[in-house]
Amino acid sequence: MSNDTFIEGPLYAPRAKVYPQAVHGRFRRIKWVILCITLGVYYLLPFVRWDRGPGLPSQAVLVDFPHRRFYFFFIELWPQEVYYFTGLLILAAMALFLMNAVAGRIWCGYMCPQTVWTDLFYAVERWVEGDRRERMMSDKRGWTFTHVRQVALKHFLWLMIAWWTGGAWVLYFADAPTLVKDLATFQAPFIAYLWIGILTATTYIFAGHAREQVCIYMCPWPRIQAALTDEWALNVTYRGDRGEPRMSVKKAEQARAHGETAGDCVDCHQCINVCPTGVDIRDGIQLGCIQCGLCIDACDTVMEQIDRPTGLIGYDTDVNMQRRREGKAPIYRPARARTLVYAAAMAIVGGIMLYSLLTRSMIDVNVLHERNPLFVQLADGGVRNDYSLRLLNKGAERSFALEVSGLPGAKLQAAGVSRRPDGKLAIDVGQDQTREVRISVQVDPGAVPAKPVDISIEATDLTTGQTVAARDHFVSPGR
Ligand code: SF4
Ligand code: SF4
Repeated sequence: MSNDTFIEGPLYAPRAKVYPQAVHGRFRRIKWVILCITLGVYYLLPFVRWDRGPGLPSQAVLVDFPHRRFYFFFIELWPQEVYYFTGLLILAAMALFLMNAVAGRIWCGYMCPQTVWTDLFYAVERWVEGDRRERMMSDKRGWTFTHVRQVALKHFLWLMIAWWTGGAWVLYFADAPTLVKDLATFQAPFIAYLWIGILTATTYIFAGHAREQVCIYMCPWPRIQAALTDEWALNVTYRGDRGEPRMSVKKAEQARAHGETAGDCVDCHQCINVCPTGVDIRDGIQLGCIQCGLCIDACDTVMEQIDRPTGLIGYDTDVNMQRRREGKAPIYRPARARTLVYAAAMAIVGGIMLYSLLTRSMIDVNVLHERNPLFVQLADGGVRNDYSLRLLNKGAERSFALEVSGLPGAKLQAAGVSRRPDGKLAIDVGQDQTREVRISVQVDPGAVPAKPVDISIEATDLTTGQTVAARDHFVSPGR
């Protein structure tokens, strides 16, 4: 192998620290509003109460691991209904695809937790250490007393936010007011402190230190979305046809006075200075751009100051960029095959989930045949099979009547369970509970089947008359 095949020098460019500058404008305001709403919901939701009646938790959103329940306002999900989460994941994926098809990485720029917390951490940094210029100067001056004090305060505030982020997370897994009290008095379970520690560390590291590197190097979504996007998706775009050749205001005036072409970009670098990932959008769409729109605000401000039309950077499509170069009017197609397919998939999955949620049964029954032994031959020649029966009651306390069908002459028995006047077994199940009972199906000698028979154990809710059934089989010595 020849030495020519080796690349000399480092394979990767050294990382330049990003010092995003404060910016004002339409997209910055939208980002502040989204930040306040999303963080407000995250931190405060565990304290929202929801009355579900006596004996049930009053927290609106609760993951109740000990009782294996998930509560979301009026919805209560049992472990058997975990498929709803699968549906939610499909809906979330489709929503992400749809957002991407309409407006590129709008999720990354406005709603992704990494973006939201990093934005908050930047705001704290700016408040403590000053804007871009002050922070750069401080770093250049080195560890002066003021710099040490500012950095210490900044990290303290970051850790407080990170700690509260971890604290809010665990409140979704227990009654929030009680857990807050237990945490404060060091009586909470160890696992709560452990999770607070983990979430504190990850928030502090990702939002305070890794920042834009999470988006550029760690997150898979930019790679995936690059394969999903098309020329009709809106992306933050530098309108080079209008901006180039870039030059200062003075040079542009001189060039125009001589009949030469001068673009609207004055090469002020404001779009780069405000960028949270340090991208120069004038180089075109790139992986580092999270489509946050802050460079639009920065450039619009510059354009207003120099009395030129805003919109040198804006949300635009590849199709329109081409049409602009050809002197044609822009066109937009938010409704096209892929967006309609994503929207239809969301409507179908959402519709199925809603229908199944509204029509789901509040009761259920499961039966498990005992394996050892499969059957018992009785002294009189009869045969008995044993089963574990589990009744599920997702609502108020109720009674069930049990009967067996599919095997003529079969009798249902259960130790310690009362019988109704009609001879059927009657079982009470408490509110929002399951009850497991060992039952037997027994046949007299003359009714023993020669081969295994399918049977059905039916449980009838004595309040509503609704019947649920579980199928199994009855085994005899002749099998
Ligand atoms: S280039 Fe503009 S839109 Fe992209 S990340 Fe930077 S500021 Fe945001
Ligand atoms: S902010 Fe606008 S004018 Fe200034 S460099 Fe960026 S694109 Fe050019």
